[in-house]
Amino acid sequence: MPDIQRTCKITGKEFVVTEWEQAFLKKMEVPPPTLCIEERHRRRFAHRNERSIYKDKCDLTDRPIISLYSPDKSLTVYSQDAWYGDKWDARDYGRDFDFDRPFFEQFYELQKAVPHMALFNMRGQNSEYCNITNSNKNCYLVFGGDYNEDCIYSVFNMYCKDSSDLYWVNNSELCYDSVDCVKCYKVKYSQNSENCSDSAFLFDCRNCESCFGCVGLRNKKFHIFNKPYTEDEYNKKIALYHLDTWNGVQHMKKEFDKFRLHFPHRDTTIINSQNVSGDHIIDSKNCKDCFDMTGPAENCKDVIFGGWNAHDMLSCNHAGFKSDLFYEMVGSIEGHHNAFCTFSWTCSDNYYCDLVLNSQDVFGCSNMNRAQYCILNKQYSKDEYFDLRTKIVEHMKKTGEWGEFFPMKYSLYDYNETVAQDFFPLAKTEAESLGLRWYEKEQEQLSSNYQIADSIHGVEDDILSQMLVCEKSGRGYKIIPQELKFYKQLQIPIPRFAPEIRNKMRFAARNPRRLWDRDCAKCQAAIQTSYSPDRPEIVYCEQCYLKEVY
Ligand SMILES: [Zn+2]
Repeated sequence: MPDIQRTCKITGKEFVVTEWEQAFLKKMEVPPPTLCIEERHRRRFAHRNERSIYKDKCDLTDRPIISLYSPDKSLTVYSQDAWYGDKWDARDYGRDFDFDRPFFEQFYELQKAVPHMALFNMRGQNSEYCNITNSNKNCYLVFGGDYNEDCIYSVFNMYCKDSSDLYWVNNSELCYDSVDCVKCYKVKYSQNSENCSDSAFLFDCRNCESCFGCVGLRNKKFHIFNKPYTEDEYNKKIALYHLDTWNGVQHMKKEFDKFRLHFPHRDTTIINSQNVSGDHIIDSKNCKDCFDMTGPAENCKDVIFGGWNAHDMLSCNHAGFKSDLFYEMVGSIEGHHNAFCTFSWTCSDNYYCDLVLNSQDVFGCSNMNRAQYCILNKQYSKDEYFDLRTKIVEHMKKTGEWGEFFPMKYSLYDYNETVAQDFFPLAKTEAESLGLRWYEKEQEQLSSNYQIADSIHGVEDDILSQMLVCEKSGRGYKIIPQELKFYKQLQIPIPRFAPEIRNKMRFAARNPRRLWDRDCAKCQAAIQTSYSPDRPEIVYCEQCYLKEVY
């Protein structure tokens, strides 16, 4: 079976379906993809709303809720308790399949009728404003992060405590404004660092303590801009940077960005893995074109955010946790042999479903729990199910729908509410020209006369009653008591940008999820790197880089 060359239906770009992919697709009984890797990612991402949340009322209990669905969408939305309760049955929204019409159109009609779970926030304690999370305690505006305590304004933080403004940070405590860090304590404004403490402005450091503005350091103490000092000198010198002030931090951010460019950067971050390609891959084997993979993971391709005990997955996002045989899945965990599903938890042999939990042999269903042999939310006997499923698959082959993920125009969310806008940003006019909806936020032009003190030491509790105005977006934001206490404890100045803008800045600090061909700046070997050739960083191959830092 040689590789197949295909042309993307959207971009016209050539892409390859490898031998491994062909064998995988055969197991899933689906034809080869018609879109390139990027367009497949975009289409799936357009069905994931992570951070756009709204105040609404539960349509079953009338209680106030936080919802993923803006009230103007006129969907039926239930609080999580109501959704899981026995006061309603998703089968009541079941319908016959109409062989005179396309499948996707009928599925979308079902989605618009069936009640939706307001937020995906499992086992949260005092953490109502979190989404796609599990087991958080006293957290506020945490998205996609699990098992955190007292964390705020963070995305994909796991097992963290007393922290704020994190992106993809694990097992850390008292950390602030950091990206891609692991096992850190009292670390601020840092990236790609591990096992560090009492430090700020680190990039790719390991086992460092009391370091400031350092790049690529290993096992060091009292270093400033990669130079050693005595403890006394260190403390006197860093005090001059006035990190308790907003201006001091902004100045240092600019200085550090310039300083970092004098040092080599590793082509990709691949740790303890064999035969893999992509970036930010840990403990994985035979994973190609994968980004943000946390192992154990084996035999995966085109996955962004995945792993945690996963194997045999193709073209998935935010998927894994004890899963195998996943094709074109989003936000899905603990499953076996599923394809084209969004938010499929503990399911097997399901195709084309949206939020179906603890179910098996379900096709084209939405918002069901503990279901079997259902199609468009209608219950069938086992024989009827397999008979009808076969006929629908044949029908979808004729309409060209079989093997395709749900179209973007049938997303329940507007394009700019979804993570597709993070990875593949469009202007409003571009989105609309593609037939996609756009969410218009009420843009009240706010103004405020309130003067925020430059230093955290000058901030009084009256700030808690103020509506602050983001200096970048012009949108209003508030400081909550938990946040002010945290800033005072760690001597962090009040941020002048709204939380979502800050999150976007951290997202932008990470490299894109794609690879470019370049040469190692030291040995000239050909490398693949997530640093595009037009970027200013000095990029080394793994070997040259490790020689440099150890
Ligand atoms: Zn090299």
